[in-house]
Amino acid sequence: MSEKLRRSVTEQAFIEDEDTIARLSKDFYWYSPVLDKELAGKTADYVIVPETEEELKRAMQAAVEEKIPVTVRGGGTGNYGQAVPMTGGLVVDVSRLTEILEIGEGFVRVQAGARLREIEKAIHETGQELTIYPSTFVKATAGGFVSGGSGGIGSVTWGNLWDGNVISAKILTMEAEVRGLTVSGDELQPYIHSYGTTGIMTEVTIPIKPKSRWVQQIYAFTDFTAALEFSRAAAQSEKWKKRLVSVMEAPISAFFKPFKKQIGTPNRALVLIEIEESNQAALEKKAEGFHGEAIYTAPADEYRKGMGISDFTWNHTTLWALKADKRWTYLQNFFSLDGLHEQVRQIKDRFGNEVLLHFEWLRDKGRLIPAALPLVKFESREQLYEVIRFFNEIGAHTNDPHTYLLGAGGWDMQMEAIAQKKKENDPFDLLNQEKIPAAASIRGTINVQ
Ligand SMILES: Cc1cc2nc3c(=O)[nH]c(=O)nc-3n(C[C@H](O)[C@H](O)[C@H](O)COP(=O)(O)OP(=O)(O)OC[C@H]3O[C@@H](n4cnc5c(N)ncnc54)[C@H](O)[C@@H]3O)c2cc1C
Repeated sequence: MSEKLRRSVTEQAFIEDEDTIARLSKDFYWYSPVLDKELAGKTADYVIVPETEEELKRAMQAAVEEKIPVTVRGGGTGNYGQAVPMTGGLVVDVSRLTEILEIGEGFVRVQAGARLREIEKAIHETGQELTIYPSTFVKATAGGFVSGGSGGIGSVTWGNLWDGNVISAKILTMEAEVRGLTVSGDELQPYIHSYGTTGIMTEVTIPIKPKSRWVQQIYAFTDFTAALEFSRAAAQSEKWKKRLVSVMEAPISAFFKPFKKQIGTPNRALVLIEIEESNQAALEKKAEGFHGEAIYTAPADEYRKGMGISDFTWNHTTLWALKADKRWTYLQNFFSLDGLHEQVRQIKDRFGNEVLLHFEWLRDKGRLIPAALPLVKFESREQLYEVIRFFNEIGAHTNDPHTYLLGAGGWDMQMEAIAQKKKENDPFDLLNQEKIPAAASIRGTINVQ
């Protein structure tokens, strides 16, 4: 036990209970049977839950002086074991740093531990809304999303985290004298999705947009090709304002128990859309053209009241599959816009219903992409990587979610810039140890897949 660390925070902020420490040392890595095995038993020695930034800074000064490894935790909803303390040490839970500091026209500045749903609630009162957020927005924090997420609801219009969806951030360094920095523009790159390896985010400023009236729609199709084409038309349309366009193969709908009655039997392919109220009639007409049946509508006044359709999309789809059968796991892929149907055909021919497809349409640097989080019925590590190899061979690029190593997942990360920033801000290598593969810092920019 480090007395210096212990004395740097209040009694309430220092967690000693072993069960709580074990719980706060985990995230949602168990969606991956590979990570579930690799990360089992990794536990912090201490957890602190600071109530103020000053308290956090004091604790970080003590950690630097005592050379204690530090892993930051927001909502702990990450899927890659990003928040798991690989070498023990200290987990810093920032979930009490929740203040919404400033709401302006087009931006909101918050403490890093503010939850995205609470932020959206607050900015709604000023007639504004978030651009993008993960489907875990009830629990996920602003700092955790920027440091460990990628995109989500809203990405079909506004892109992912690298597409201007972060304006600036305040960072604490882990230098001999702990220091606060404010970074913006291109300087943000080594902090986005870098798992807190380059600094501790204490504040985040994100862009916001005028609020829309979102209608939630589910359409059912007997033909997956028609569902895909309808979803593409909705995602591509310049005229329609939309926040979410997801499309699921028929067998996936069997996992969505709350919609069992509406889906009927046999199971059907589904398209889930959040569309601006004024565009709903045009969408309805378009769906008819593709023989889609509207099976569920939640009017704009119902938005955010109870369960929403986004609770079935992105990686929440995997959650529903896991509820039905624990063998399901998932991948993350970028399919090709032009070759989409052929790629789908090849996958179905090769794997049948051992792999189930759902697409989450998004923009990446302005380009529309059929991104997917395919469900894979897991048998073994070898089988999983055989599936990944096949996807990559047919051009459906995989961002591997079964690794905790930053840069090894396939995201186009600027590893050289990250390694450089880590050297500057964290010269004793205390932050989120072992998440950056040693080779990455000497190999420079890597894109493994
Ligand atoms: C069912 C399900 C659905 C999901 N859907 C999506 C989705 O749609 N889109 C998406 O992008 N992700 C998704 N995720 C992953 C995850 O929920 C999000 O990325 C989320 O934004 C993470 O936020 P968090 O606060 O829980 O971060 P955490 O899990 O606590 O942390 C994530 C990473 O950031 C670091 N970190 C946290 N806070 C800070 C800080 N203040 N300073 C520095 N580093 C910090 C942590 O060390 C960790 O490496 C999903 C996960 C699940 C389980």
